Amino acid sequence: MKLVRLGEPGRERPAVIDDQGVTRDLSALTRDIDGAFLASDGVLRTRRALAEGTLPELNSEGLRFGPPVARPGAVICVGQNYAAHAAESGSAPPARPVIFFKPPNTVVGPYDEVEIPRGSVRTDWEVELAVVIGRTARYLDSPAQALEHVAGYTVSNDVSERDFQLEHSGGQWSKGKSCATFNPLGPFLVPTDEVPDVQGLRLRSFVNGEPRQDSGTADMIFSVAQLVYDLSQYLVLDPGDVVNTGTPEGVALSGRFPYLRPGDVMEIEIEGLGRQRQTLGAA
Ligand code: MN
Repeated sequence: MKLVRLGEPGRERPAVIDDQGVTRDLSALTRDIDGAFLASDGVLRTRRALAEGTLPELNSEGLRFGPPVARPGAVICVGQNYAAHAAESGSAPPARPVIFFKPPNTVVGPYDEVEIPRGSVRTDWEVELAVVIGRTARYLDSPAQALEHVAGYTVSNDVSERDFQLEHSGGQWSKGKSCATFNPLGPFLVPTDEVPDVQGLRLRSFVNGEPRQDSGTADMIFSVAQLVYDLSQYLVLDPGDVVNTGTPEGVALSGRFPYLRPGDVMEIEIEGLGRQRQTLGAA
């Protein structure tokens, strides 16, 4: 099953796409797919309701896909978690996870327009596996406990403005990561137990139909379990929070591809988790 939020921004309705591909309304179970829902066994309750056949079918035709989780309390991003991307960015692979933050108001739907910010000359794409937290994680004892605290996975585009990130920032990347519309998320939240090998997923990106990134989560320097464990030693991960786990090689920063321009189309895909598509506009 896949959890989705359908409708206009700020007025999305919670829904689930069952294993037959039928979209069903989740409104009877919850007002929204958010941290409170995930922390109160929302995934389990949805699965039970599907089995009992109590969820009415929803005519989803023409409805916009919102991000599959309501505005998170925090969007935590891991930098340089793929060795080849660290190299194309001019850095050595990090010895410990490197983190930075995006404001939660950067999160938009998977097919929404992405705006090139004012003054931008180097807007770039980054396909990433996003982890959605399901239970509060603080001082976990080991990485083996980490995935119990994860509700599921989705696709994330960590859109970046490289001048803002590297030249305007004094070493703090967030300035180049925080522009409006800079975090398309979705289309689906796929429960953790329906992704048997999260370190075995292919990630790809395309610009105007031409291939850009093509790697696998097997190439992560720090696995999802290691990341959640490591983060929990420094901060509290709350239900509904999103962790972007880093991007592989093949972004424009490498010098191999042009940066994005208004009218370009980004497509971002992870095996089993779906594909996003955004047209670039101008802020
Ligand atoms: Mn990133």
